[in-house]
This record gives sequence, structure tokens and C-alpha cells, in this order.
Amino acid sequence: MRKLLVAGNWKMNGSIESAKALAAGLLNEVGDGASYDVAVFPPFVHIPAVAAQLQNSDLMWGGQNVSAHKRGAFTSEVSAEMLLELGCQMVLVGHSECREYGGENNQLVALKFKQALATGLLPVLCVGETLAQREADETESVVWSQIQAVIDLVGMESLGQGVIAYEPVWAIGTGLTATAEQAQQVHQFIRSHLSENDDIIARRMRLLYGGSCNGSNAHALFSMPDVDGGLIGGASLTVTDFMAICQQADALSNGE
Ligand code: PEP
Repeated sequence: MRKLLVAGNWKMNGSIESAKALAAGLLNEVGDGASYDVAVFPPFVHIPAVAAQLQNSDLMWGGQNVSAHKRGAFTSEVSAEMLLELGCQMVLVGHSECREYGGENNQLVALKFKQALATGLLPVLCVGETLAQREADETESVVWSQIQAVIDLVGMESLGQGVIAYEPVWAIGTGLTATAEQAQQVHQFIRSHLSENDDIIARRMRLLYGGSCNGSNAHALFSMPDVDGGLIGGASLTVTDFMAICQQADALSNGE
């Protein structure tokens, strides 16, 4: 049985004080021993404040991106080792905003995945199609090429040590959520394709949904057989909104 994971991508929001308060508020609400996993991805500079709140708890934290390089003359980049030193357990790679605004392609994202894993971080590989690609019936080929690039570089065994977040670009920050059926269709496609490579890994891997997920749609989305939680943007910025999603994960984990 795959444990649901609810992960908050805070993007470029907040201050050290607000990050500290948000982390403390979540810790207070979620507590230890929850039936689902929780992770947060603050901006890099807020990670120490969040780590100070969440250390010695079950809540995890990580970076929103990572360098493909180990160290050296890569001005502005943050290495996996640096994230590890801040106690990060996880890191996002290939978020659509990094692909779109940062010009990251599938090969670069695969290198980041490899570097993160080699350093001991759990990479969350973000994949998803644009609206134009969906309308051109390219969803499956786009999503699979994003995953295949990682398999080509690191192999199936290593891919299986990470998490995949399916985030249709047209649903991110737009209020346009994929229906639970649309999400399930793509998640099922991903899992069945993974299973052609390795059935055990395919069954074990957590596939998150991301894109305008909130307390009202989380139950329907997370109750789909191949949706194992969510990557949450806007609704991860307040304790109330994020907990409304976590409560759905808790209910489902307890068979409700
Ligand atoms: C995201 O950016 O990962 C995301 C899912 O954003 P939102 O929930 O705001 O659509």
C-alpha cells in the first residue's frame, strides 16, 4: 500500500518570519505519526528557518530546484550537498515553471535527478503537458518523454527511488483542476508504462497530482487508484488551506 504524500510548493512567496510561522502551524496541526506523509518546499533562503521548526519531526522539507553539478563555478546555483546540509530530505526537479522560465529541458532535468539521488536526496520529478499539447493529443507522449529521459540517464531502479508529480501545466495556478478522471487517466498511463519496465517498481512508486488542488477537490483526486497524494502550490501557503487537503488525505488513509 502506498502512503499518501501531501507536499507544499511555496514557490517565491513569504518571508523568513512567515515561513517559520507556516512550518510551526503545520507541525502543530499534523503532529507526528500522521497516516500520510507531509513535505514542504520553501524558497532556498527560508529553508534554515523551516528546518529549525521541523527538525526531529515527521514532516519533511526540501528545495524547489537543485544544480545538476556537484560544486564549482556555477553562479547562482544551489547544490544537492548544500540542501543536504540544511537537512533537506527531498527536492523538486523539472517543475514546469523551471522548464518554462528557466529553459530547463528533459536532459538537464534528468541530470538534476541523478545528482540529487547520488547525494542522498529524494527527487520529485515534475512532468506535465501544456494546454496546446493536450489539445494536440500529445499528453501521453510529452509526459512519457519527460520520464524516459530520466530512465535513459539513471535507469529504472534509480527512477523508482524518487517520486513523480504529474502536473498539467494548464492546471497550475489557474484554478482549472484536472478532473479526478483526467488525472487518473494520465497516472494510470504512467504506471502501466513504468510497469512495462519493472512491475514491482511501478507498483511501489508514488505518483502525485498537482494543479489547483484544494480542500474541495483533494478527496476525489486522492481517491483515484493511481493518485498517491498531491503537490500543492497556492493552497499550501496557509495552514488552513493546506490542512483542508491534509484532512482529506487522512480520511482516505483511514478508509473514509
Ligand atoms: C505547483 O506549482 O506545483 C502547483 C501545483 O501549483 P497550484 O497548486 O497553485 O496550481
